[in-house]
Amino acid sequence: MTKGYFADYVTIENNRETLENKREILNILLSDVVFLWGKHLQFKLDTSTIKREIKRDGGYGMQLLKDRIRKDGKVKEGNVLKVDSFLNHQMDTSLFREMGKEFKKRFEGEEINKILTIEASGIGIACLVAEEFHVPVVFAKKTQTKNIAGDVYKAQVESYTHGRVYDIIVSKEFIGKGDKVLLIDDFLANGKALEGLAEIVAASGAELVGAGIAIEKGFQVGGEIIRSKGIHLESLAIIESMDEKTGEIVFRE
Ligand code: 5GP
Repeated sequence: MTKGYFADYVTIENNRETLENKREILNILLSDVVFLWGKHLQFKLDTSTIKREIKRDGGYGMQLLKDRIRKDGKVKEGNVLKVDSFLNHQMDTSLFREMGKEFKKRFEGEEINKILTIEASGIGIACLVAEEFHVPVVFAKKTQTKNIAGDVYKAQVESYTHGRVYDIIVSKEFIGKGDKVLLIDDFLANGKALEGLAEIVAASGAELVGAGIAIEKGFQVGGEIIRSKGIHLESLAIIESMDEKTGEIVFRE
């Protein structure tokens, strides 16, 4: 197109056309630029609408998972949600596959070459997320050994469900500079597990791309802490409140 205008311009120049003609050509060129810019803007608007639609799909969360939590989740004392029948003990791998696809959508366009999770409950979900991204999974091992030998990155994590502090370790062989890491875990409560994993990523020199959580308990501080650190956090279901007496669970919409 530019070539065409240039040729026209040259022709006019050669024909010693009036200044008026040149102005007209400039105007046409300008209107095309405006038109193209408009198209570009339209495209940008379209993609952001699509992104918003993806987010809105099932409110803030993933409908399939929210339905399953409502059906099979059990609210226990101490703000603990038991999802042993499909996530923490018996595992519904078809549901995990759908969760993997959802994470793939939410981290669309991000360069990820490794999934990092924490044993044990994160591993199942992380494997199906890794399937979608076609990358390996590394899981941080929990250990109580005082003197950890060998080349490992280490962080301390305070367990929400057990109330004690333990070390997590990842071998230096499996994470390092140049890696682009997505963290995956089953629950987010006070954010200690994610903070520990993020610490290991930082110590290794790898890049932290973001964190994907199956169930975030939105009434606890973890989500806020992680987001305030500028970490791209995606939770498939965010629980606004839950009542151990009635068993009622309210999701963030
Ligand atoms: P955080 O480190 O964010 O305080 O807690 C997250 C970790 O604690 C997760 O790895 C998960 O294993 C466990 N967790 C926290 N809250 C719950 C819960 O309500 N139910 C279950 N099953 N695990 C939880």
